Amino acid sequence: MVRLLSRIMNDRNLYQNEEIPMEKAKPTVLIIEDEKPIRRFLHASLRNMDYRVVEAETGAEGKAKASCEPPDLVILDLGLPDMDGMEIIEWIREWSRVPIIILSARGQEKDKVAALDAGADDYLTKPFAVGELLARMRVAFRNRASGTAQGNTEPVFQAGDLVVDVVNRRVTLADKEVHLTPIEYRLLVVFIRNVGKVLTHNFLLKEVWGPSYIEDPRYIRVYVANLRQKIEVEPSRPIHLITEQGVGYRFVQE
Ligand code: CA
Repeated sequence: MVRLLSRIMNDRNLYQNEEIPMEKAKPTVLIIEDEKPIRRFLHASLRNMDYRVVEAETGAEGKAKASCEPPDLVILDLGLPDMDGMEIIEWIREWSRVPIIILSARGQEKDKVAALDAGADDYLTKPFAVGELLARMRVAFRNRASGTAQGNTEPVFQAGDLVVDVVNRRVTLADKEVHLTPIEYRLLVVFIRNVGKVLTHNFLLKEVWGPSYIEDPRYIRVYVANLRQKIEVEPSRPIHLITEQGVGYRFVQE
């Protein structure tokens, strides 16, 4: 029943996002970014993809625009002239689950982790390709459309040669049964439920080990390495379990 409902909600959401030709039905993207060239470039690219774009140059302007017209997605620069982008994430998360994609400068790994832990959905490091941003936006929209915090709730998940039957707890790689320890399996399920999304070390530790987890990313590194040995066709060149340097991991389906 829950699955049926979530499917109906998905269908309705697809309909709303893609099929109604009216101006109002276009998803609104709020860009909060103080660098004018980046803002202009994003505005043009997103408008071409049929998004409605609202620009804000400062944090205060971003807050004002978000409150007078709640956006469908927020692209947020962490380094703003009047406030830290973190403040905006925390402010938005008090009243909305709208997807937030962070833009950050190189070498701000700590900031990215803090932003993701505070509730941002994803991040891009400048300079970035617009194709990459659009792909991340699609993932964020899809995960939100499913109506749950955890995007993928299908009973059987497939990524290339890897098949995870969540109902029967059965994992196969190229039709061969894969034997996982309980923790490896739990970790894999967290990844496939958040497919495409960057997951921080702390998020993974909390999800797999529960609230009494120990804040030590080495645990995750060990389990991810083991998991790669079992679920990647070439463990030294993973195509699914991708490392996000200094931040965490992302599970890529295609
Ligand atoms: Ca900036």
